[in-house]
Amino acid sequence: MKIELIIKGEYEEDIIKEIAQSLLSSFNAESRITVLDEDPPRDAYSVRRAQYNASRLLTWVLKYRLSVDSYMLGLLDYDAFVEGLNFVFGIANPFYKVALVFTYRLHSTDRGLYKERIKKEVFHEFGHLLGLRHCDNRRCVMSFSNSIFDTDYKSWRYCEKCIVALKQGGIDVNEDAITLKD
Ligand SMILES: [Zn+2]
Ligand SMILES: [Zn+2]
Repeated sequence: MKIELIIKGEYEEDIIKEIAQSLLSSFNAESRITVLDEDPPRDAYSVRRAQYNASRLLTWVLKYRLSVDSYMLGLLDYDAFVEGLNFVFGIANPFYKVALVFTYRLHSTDRGLYKERIKKEVFHEFGHLLGLRHCDNRRCVMSFSNSIFDTDYKSWRYCEKCIVALKQGGIDVNEDAITLKD
């Protein structure tokens, strides 16, 4: 599996490294990191809401794809929405194999916590890319987060049911690393 990490925003080096490394070892993948200097098109921003339109950002990020068969995972330090929701932590489009995580609402003065939150949202959105739906196990990373409290409660790992679904979908997973044990 090939993963392209797309970065837009100021992130400390170790955060990017850890996210890349944990994705790679979890899915036996190879990755490339692309840092975007360019800004999104103006119509991706809603002045009225003072937020970005998540779907438009997703379309924008698609144009940076390097390889047709890779999965794209974007980290964007923006606040984003989809119609009908006040905000979203992320968005995934399995058809185009691209997912975005919006870190604006994940910030904390606790660096470790901030990193942990990003990791959870990355594994959540990546799970959607690999065909997983929301899970009712609240500790499973695929459980839906309504608020940052839900994010903090869940782990970054997949429950056994979700692992089975991944394997049935033909995904090469490093089970030992990513299965929720408790
Ligand atoms: Zn979700
Ligand atoms: Zn699950």
